[in-house]
Amino acid sequence: METYTETKTIPAIDAADVIVVGGGSAGIMAAIAAARLGSKVLLIDPSSAPGGTSIIGLPLAGFHDGVRSVVGGIPDEFMNRLEARGGLWGPRNAAFIPSDPEIIKMIAIEMLEEADVEMLLHTMVVDAVVREGRIDGVIVEGKGGRRLLRAPLFVDASGDGDVCHYAGVPMMKEEGELQPPTLMFVVGNIDMDRFEEAGGYSVLMRTYQEISAREQFRNPRRNELSGGWRLGSRKNELAFNVTRILNIDATDPRDLTRAEVEGRHQAWEFLDRFLKPHIAGFEQAFITNTFHRVGVRETRRIVGEYVIREEDLWQFRKFDDAVCCGCYPIDVHHASSESTHYPKEHFYNGQYYSIPYRALVPLRVDNVLAAGRCLSSDHVAFGGLRVIGNTMGTGQAAGTAAALCLQHDVIPRELDVDLLRDTLRQHGAFLGVPT
Ligand SMILES: Cc1cc2nc3c(=O)[nH]c(=O)nc-3n(C[C@H](O)[C@H](O)[C@H](O)COP(=O)(O)OP(=O)(O)OC[C@H]3O[C@@H](n4cnc5c(N)ncnc54)[C@H](O)[C@@H]3O)c2cc1C
Repeated sequence: METYTETKTIPAIDAADVIVVGGGSAGIMAAIAAARLGSKVLLIDPSSAPGGTSIIGLPLAGFHDGVRSVVGGIPDEFMNRLEARGGLWGPRNAAFIPSDPEIIKMIAIEMLEEADVEMLLHTMVVDAVVREGRIDGVIVEGKGGRRLLRAPLFVDASGDGDVCHYAGVPMMKEEGELQPPTLMFVVGNIDMDRFEEAGGYSVLMRTYQEISAREQFRNPRRNELSGGWRLGSRKNELAFNVTRILNIDATDPRDLTRAEVEGRHQAWEFLDRFLKPHIAGFEQAFITNTFHRVGVRETRRIVGEYVIREEDLWQFRKFDDAVCCGCYPIDVHHASSESTHYPKEHFYNGQYYSIPYRALVPLRVDNVLAAGRCLSSDHVAFGGLRVIGNTMGTGQAAGTAAALCLQHDVIPRELDVDLLRDTLRQHGAFLGVPT
């Protein structure tokens, strides 16, 4: 490959005490947590609103283990506000709680504003400048050109672990095994009464299995579809989690482009060739929205001080340095076509696992924490850890840790974990039933 050496002088700005990169469910929680502890926080995201993957029309999962809520603190406050605004549908102890993405965006903005977090949208981190094992600043690009934004501490909540990757943290990415992305879309103008009378989603699934066995669809899914979910309290609309785009590495823009294009083909195929002709209630339906970007399940993760293993979830392990808890079972969408099914029967039965602080602390680079999708875990454990309850919990933990590091002038690896856990508990986080 030919190369070009860029030499350019760009503005360098002391931007904040804590820069949180990525405004998804993890980044929102991290930013609020750090700001509430007195840090000046900048939250950077290339989108037009905070929310990340949590605003692609999903039901929120991983909050309740069947006996107790396993995610307290700021995530719980967020859920209460969503519910009060009509942004959730159904009981809070459900395994999946349908949510309204527009209300998520607004609640996130309100809570970030109340905490005095500065938001920088339409801006992407494209590199990191590292000196002696510390990130001096991140290079951002936006309409104003390139800038170096400096801070003493960073939280990488970019999903893809971009900051850690650029900074030279060892990363994991299971080439060829990455879970495939899905373009979510909303179908509106559904006659819900007719749909429900005709058997609802279980009949839709059965019919899809029959039709896809005899007709050639672009969508490689055959035997199962993940769901058609309500959007909070909205009526006559369903958000469909059915498309599957194979062989995508979402850290490669060419693959991502292919995913966006193929996702739209599959969405329209699903409406025109399956829903409208075969499912009662969908005769007059249309696509009201495809979400702002394809939903990416898995890319890079950091190698941290601890790598959460599959067995830790099966054994519902309670770590001494637990900073949040989760209950979602292992759920790996297979990289080829059908999902890999892992036993789920021990879950939602009063059983929960914990996430250790060390899984948020990367190796090699001193002043960055990871939260959300890019935490340190193996590929199979990640199948459970990736849901929104867990990403929010790790976000609150990383933001709290960042603020405490600044207050006590230590790096994340040296932070007193008891102090972190006490602070999290004081702010309502659930760290497990006291033994
Ligand atoms: C199709 C699909 C279905 C799913 N179904 C469910 C479900 O039913 N229930 C559930 O709870 N979970 C579900 N999940 C999982 C869950 O939604 C995600 O794992 C979770 O939302 C990830 O949160 P996050 O904050 O870690 O990352 P993301 O939500 O991915 O947020 C990362 C943010 O970082 C920003 N960003 C990325 N790179 C940069 C950069 N270089 N500079 C600045 N900003 C950057 C992005 O714009 C984004 O806003 C699903 C995921 C997918 C893809």
